[in-house]
Amino acid sequence: MSIRTNPNDFAAKKQWLAAQLQRNGGSPRLNKSTVSHLFRYRSASASGSGVSLTRFNRVIEVDVEQSSLNVEGLATFETIVEATLAHGLIPLVCPELKHITIGGAIVGIGIESNCFRHGFVHDGLIEAEVLLPDGRVVLARPDNEHAELFRALPNSYGTLGYILRTRMRLMRARPWVHLRTQRFGDLVDFLAAMRAATQDPNVDFTEGLFHAGGPFFLTNSRFEDHVPRVDDIVRRHVFYKLLEAQPDLYLSTRDYLFRYDPEWFWNLPESWPYLLFRRFAPRSLRNSGFYTRYSAWKRWVLAQLPWTGEEDVEPLIQDWEVPWERARELIEFARRETDIGAKPWIVTPLRTPSTPTLYPIEANRLYLNLGCYCQVKKVAGRTDYWYTRILDDKCFALGGIKMLYSSTFLAPEQFWAHYNGKAYWALKQRYDPKGQLKDLYAKCALRV
Ligand SMILES: Cc1cc2nc3c(=O)[nH]c(=O)nc-3n(C[C@H](O)[C@H](O)[C@H](O)COP(=O)(O)OP(=O)(O)OC[C@H]3O[C@@H](n4cnc5c(N)ncnc54)[C@H](O)[C@@H]3O)c2cc1C
Repeated sequence: MSIRTNPNDFAAKKQWLAAQLQRNGGSPRLNKSTVSHLFRYRSASASGSGVSLTRFNRVIEVDVEQSSLNVEGLATFETIVEATLAHGLIPLVCPELKHITIGGAIVGIGIESNCFRHGFVHDGLIEAEVLLPDGRVVLARPDNEHAELFRALPNSYGTLGYILRTRMRLMRARPWVHLRTQRFGDLVDFLAAMRAATQDPNVDFTEGLFHAGGPFFLTNSRFEDHVPRVDDIVRRHVFYKLLEAQPDLYLSTRDYLFRYDPEWFWNLPESWPYLLFRRFAPRSLRNSGFYTRYSAWKRWVLAQLPWTGEEDVEPLIQDWEVPWERARELIEFARRETDIGAKPWIVTPLRTPSTPTLYPIEANRLYLNLGCYCQVKKVAGRTDYWYTRILDDKCFALGGIKMLYSSTFLAPEQFWAHYNGKAYWALKQRYDPKGQLKDLYAKCALRV
């Protein structure tokens, strides 16, 4: 059975786009109705002008028999999960924030707590229609003349072209998820249990949280057809606090997939106005987009006040990945050398079946992903982004790699050595010879 929700819509939009590009003579511009998940603060003018792609945001077809999804590049995971879960299917890997888009997660290395089994978001990619800077649209597949582009989409961050449409693999999902959390006092025991979970066929998802100096919480989860109760993490409880207090949690699959969305992980203030908001605001407003708007508003208010100087915080919003054998060293270093206050660190194992050209992580090898998603107090007397810099250095020294959605301070030669500059520039020459789109270093390191 194939459910085609918008059969002709995509073709019509492509025609519209071609006409607009011809009329304006301008370059395409990615621009969305939802918030961005890049954590690089840039000037508003940096978004540029041109033909907006914002309308490429719909699900085209859910192919139930083939377990595949045909979807436009700017569709959010919220839209996608709503369309697929109705048929008991979901993408192999669904990022935890509802407004991340499928195109953004492919070019920006999307992850989840089941990456140890399915790889990254882009490992579910079957094909992609890519809009090149000169206005041509090409179909990139692993077996056609654009196979090199296909393999270079992950970690390209829209610098080679924009994904207008993709076909993705789907998998069976059940309606509920049972989460079981164990507490460990010892890091070695915690890592051993997490590694064992990656080999356990009864575990569908695994991830861990820990605080500075505190215990380690390992949560192994599995799909279920029936559960004894359903816990509420949207209105009553804050997800990460509930799992630390209660060994068994039961969530709808949708709430599980987007479990960190209501609080944008752990970043909304727990003051009474927000507690009222989370309790009574319409469910449609209870999402990470609210956090992004709240942060922008806060920065704007602070900028208007004559007596407030520059904020005394570093946004330590990063993901680092190291081979599993070096996981203990990275975690010990992070706990010893940084101070992130009361907020947790988050870890998950991952293993990818393929090495993307621009994200040279070894295929079929187990890695540990360490994430930190909070604002931390700046270190007095140290250079800006001190914690980011020392953790980046440690990660690379341990043979790891870091994601580029946030800040990076590598010099150009180091950057291109880590992210396969040779292959990148050959592709840039082929797909964007006039340099109409920014290059990866300019976008991710220079933040222009
Ligand atoms: C705070 C935070 C939390 C995060 N949490 C998670 C998480 O829980 N799980 C996870 O997997 N990832 C997470 N990420 C990483 C996230 O997946 C990537 O940053 C991803 O690129 C964001 O996609 P987006 O749709 O929001 O795109 P945007 O943030 O709008 O854009 C990201 C980049 O991708 C490019 N891009 C976007 N759409 C397309 C397209 N259709 N074609 C080509 N290029 C495109 C843009 O030009 C831009 O360079 C997080 C990032 C941040 C900053």
